[in-house]
Amino acid sequence: MSDMCHRQLRFVKSNDCGHLSLTSEAVIDCLSITCQLSGAHPSGCADSRCRRYYEKPNRVITQEVDVHKVRRILSESHNILTDI
Ligand SMILES: [Zn+2]
Ligand SMILES: [Zn+2]
Repeated sequence: MSDMCHRQLRFVKSNDCGHLSLTSEAVIDCLSITCQLSGAHPSGCADSRCRRYYEKPNRVITQEVDVHKVRRILSESHNILTDI
C-alpha cells in the first residue's frame, strides 16, 4: 500500500481468458502538506524538497466476471472515462 500520490487503475478481469480491461482510473491523494501534488499542499509553497512526482500506478481488480459482462461494464463506464 502506497502512501504517496498515485493513479489507481481499476480493471475488471474476464474469468474466461484472464484478460484485464480498464474501467476507470482515479488519482489517489496522499494528503501530505509536503507533496506538491496533494490538495493539502499549501499553494504558495515553493520548497524544492516537497515531492513532485507520482508513485507508479496501482492496479486494482474490482470484479472478476464472464466476458459478456466485461463488455457491459465497459460500455457503462464509458461516461466515467470521458469525464477524466
Ligand atoms: Zn502526494
Ligand atoms: Zn511545498
